Amino acid sequence: MSQEKTDPVLPPHRAGAIENPDLPLNPYSDDQQPWPGLAEKMTPQPDHGETSYKGRDRLTGKRALITGGDSGIGRAAAIAFAREGADVAIAYHPKDEQDAQTVIRLIEAEGRKAVALPADLSDEAAARAVADEAVRQLGGLEVLVLNAGMQQAQKSIADITSKQFDDTMKTNIYAHFWITQQVLPHLKKGASIIITSSVQAFSPSSHLFDYAQTKAANRAFAQALAKQLAPKGIRVNAVAPGPFWTALQVSGGQFKDELPEFGADSVLGRAGQPVEIAPLYVLLASDEASYVTGECWGATGGEGT
Ligand code: NAD
Ligand code: MG
Repeated sequence: MSQEKTDPVLPPHRAGAIENPDLPLNPYSDDQQPWPGLAEKMTPQPDHGETSYKGRDRLTGKRALITGGDSGIGRAAAIAFAREGADVAIAYHPKDEQDAQTVIRLIEAEGRKAVALPADLSDEAAARAVADEAVRQLGGLEVLVLNAGMQQAQKSIADITSKQFDDTMKTNIYAHFWITQQVLPHLKKGASIIITSSVQAFSPSSHLFDYAQTKAANRAFAQALAKQLAPKGIRVNAVAPGPFWTALQVSGGQFKDELPEFGADSVLGRAGQPVEIAPLYVLLASDEASYVTGECWGATGGEGT
């Protein structure tokens, strides 16, 4: 009589990590960094796909601008895009130069063109100049990933200064508007715009009062602009990550005492690693997703959007 085969019992925080047992898991260090934080100083190091992402020529010949491409989700998208055959410009805060240079080297290692664009995107003139420079240095643009963002946790609405509120709105909403307006005349039929929203757009946390509002705005950005640009053959989609282990979280995005078990309360029982969301960006950027527009695609670790 044959024995019924059962799956090995894994501790809950490893669920979903079966395919890649090397993914860094909880508990994480509670070390915090001054904003915006460097991926390379995090413990453990996030997995952005540096050694694990395998390309399959899905973006051959495309040119992409990724804001916030130095670290976290943007870095994972930048590595994946280069391995899929795209030239990539990354925009990032000037304080993130060290992380950015690592990404530039990784893109160049694939034989692709890499463009580094440090700037404070919460400033209109700087954001528009970054958009112009990306188009100029890449010689055109097919993919725009609006991903730079900031998040500062506060217990109470009373603790949010007008400066924090303003910086969060400017970085997470205005910059996307300015950059899109600036590059739009250069985008042709088949181009793809991807904006990084969040599970916070659907299920806002008490301590992310200002941030959650921006992520709901990002989702509306994709839905409204998709309708506007459909006649031009340009697709617009949002991606809604759940908890991902990135510099944003260790530089004020979460409270210090929450960091060790960050993401452990998700359905999969762990935070995502940036490489695990890169395939969504690749697909939405690629011509394979030609009937996908105005959508918001989640990678929330089971929360559902
Ligand atoms: P990250 O800190 O690694 O990346 C964000 C990047 O944005 C930074 O590297 C920084 O260079 C850039 N940036 C921030 N402010 C800027 C400014 N004023 N000018 C220029 N660049 C600026 O963190 P991440 O988690 O990868 O964040 C990427 C996106 O993902 C953000 O939009 C964030 O809201 C979103 N997101 C993250 C999570 C998560 O759990 N990490 C969850 C949902 C959504
Ligand atoms: Mg960074």
